[in-house]
Amino acid sequence: MKLTKKTDFLIIGSGIAGLSYALKVAGHGKVCMITKANEDESNTKYAQGGIAAVMYHPDTYDKHIEDTLIAGDGICDENIVRMVVKEAPERIAELIKWGTKFDKTASGEYDLAKEGGHSAHRILHHKDNTGFEIERALLLSAHAHPNIEILDHYFAIDILTQHHLGLEVNSRTPDIACFGAYVLNLRTNEIETILAKNTLMATGGAGNVYSTTTNPSIASGDGIAMVYRAKGKVEGMEFYQFHPTSLFNPGERPSFLISEAVRGFGGILKTIDGEEFMHKYDIRKSLAPRDIVARAIDNEIKIRGDDYVYLDCRHLEKDAFVKHFPNIYQKCLDIGIDMMKDYTPVVPAAHYLCGGIKVDKNGRSNIKQLYAVGECSSTGLHGANRLASNSLLEAIVFAHHAAADAIQKIKENPIENYISNNPLAKKNIPNWNAEGTSYPEEMVLLTQSLREVQAIMTNYVGIVRSNIRLQRAFDRLEILYKENEALYLKTTISPILCELRNIINVAYIIIKQARNRKESVGLHYMMADFDLKIKHLLP
Ligand SMILES: Cc1cc2nc3c(=O)[nH]c(=O)nc-3n(C[C@H](O)[C@H](O)[C@H](O)COP(=O)(O)OP(=O)(O)OC[C@H]3O[C@@H](n4cnc5c(N)ncnc54)[C@H](O)[C@@H]3O)c2cc1C
Repeated sequence: MKLTKKTDFLIIGSGIAGLSYALKVAGHGKVCMITKANEDESNTKYAQGGIAAVMYHPDTYDKHIEDTLIAGDGICDENIVRMVVKEAPERIAELIKWGTKFDKTASGEYDLAKEGGHSAHRILHHKDNTGFEIERALLLSAHAHPNIEILDHYFAIDILTQHHLGLEVNSRTPDIACFGAYVLNLRTNEIETILAKNTLMATGGAGNVYSTTTNPSIASGDGIAMVYRAKGKVEGMEFYQFHPTSLFNPGERPSFLISEAVRGFGGILKTIDGEEFMHKYDIRKSLAPRDIVARAIDNEIKIRGDDYVYLDCRHLEKDAFVKHFPNIYQKCLDIGIDMMKDYTPVVPAAHYLCGGIKVDKNGRSNIKQLYAVGECSSTGLHGANRLASNSLLEAIVFAHHAAADAIQKIKENPIENYISNNPLAKKNIPNWNAEGTSYPEEMVLLTQSLREVQAIMTNYVGIVRSNIRLQRAFDRLEILYKENEALYLKTTISPILCELRNIINVAYIIIKQARNRKESVGLHYMMADFDLKIKHLLP
């Protein structure tokens, strides 16, 4: 293992959170950004709808605040909601300054869309690929800055704390502090150490904890697992938002989204024997809100033991449908489904993690010198359920606050001398890739474990939970945890092994926090065990 870098700001992740923070701190020191895949691969790149902000009269901050609080089901931090909503226009102006292009109307105003849960038109967007446009613009600006270095295909394994450096955490210095990270250079397969005065976790979500997700494969909750292992605080993990209708196409990851607008257009949900079922759950039937539809589909699938339900669009007028949904129609055709003639199989998919690394209003975690911003963090904005298009916004607002705080902190950072002298005490550095470790003889040991975690989480800790399901999930995950830790100790380190370890860690936290929250609230829906037994006994 070698010491490769000393930097002022280490950023782990190159989505909207990491990049916007980088652009803010770069004028105050050297920035090293690492990212585990191609530099643009991120949840950010896949965001479709847009970013919420109050732009014009008659919309008001109060309405956006109220919509956010209602979605969050009583457990948002109201001060944080106010801060984010009120700072939105200023932060959006920065995105535009960095080169992001949002669509405009013929009169030159921004073309604002309206999404579920919003009481006004307030979603800025770039066609239906807003995230792609934001990622493009931010990367371009970051590359143009002489102080920002982006290292792609660098995988962060764990953060460095006193423990790794042989420093004492004692009653005089009780706080755990972060001094950078161990990273795996995927081009050389060598483990390197990056020391930093300041570290930002911007590693995004964890959709791959579940079998079906709209998230790309990078979303394995790495940052949350790293911080949890280092004794950082993680909260709100029981609140996982599922999108009700993703295309059921086994093996395809991420899952392709079938927009909720298709139901708005007249698509009807049916079981695989062609029976409508939404009337059993809500008088609005297939037009019920996202979380009710997701729960209804989940329930039908569980009771019947099916893998999916159908979205029936065969009765809709073809020309109008294709005009409205050209990409969805074409995507289905590509896999042999003509939506105008065939049933379209759909299934809910894990979409957005509301919880994460607990941070204050400046993005500070409880570990000193470690910030977290974006989907890996828990700020109090979303509470028990995220309002659509508030997540990109959260990332830029908190990147701004974290950057301002970090710039201030590095001026007074006591570890500077320590870093510039001889920081790498030999003590406590893991013996990765030492003699005696080897690649697993069979990759199936990893791939099968991954499938098992995903199945456990989908079937027992998904949209609808119960005490029995959570207990089962906990017991089964424990076996996988023990097996994987044993493998981790004697196996040459690799991204797939680390991601599996992180996914197991994150699954454990989700189950633990779901068990602690007894009542149903927001996205955490608990079914009484009694109901469950009765339903299973019925024919
Ligand atoms: C299909 C889809 C549609 C969406 N639509 C919207 C929308 O319309 N509006 C909205 O507000 N939100 C939307 N979201 C959510 C939003 O896109 C994300 O919440 C947001 O982009 C997260 O940004 P981030 O910077 O926190 O993380 P990401 O953009 O996911 O970036 C994470 C980065 O961390 C890197 N990384 C992860 N682990 C490691 C590691 N171990 N080592 C090194 N690097 C690592 C990744 O490679 C990546 O670069 C959508 C999400 C999806 C999936």
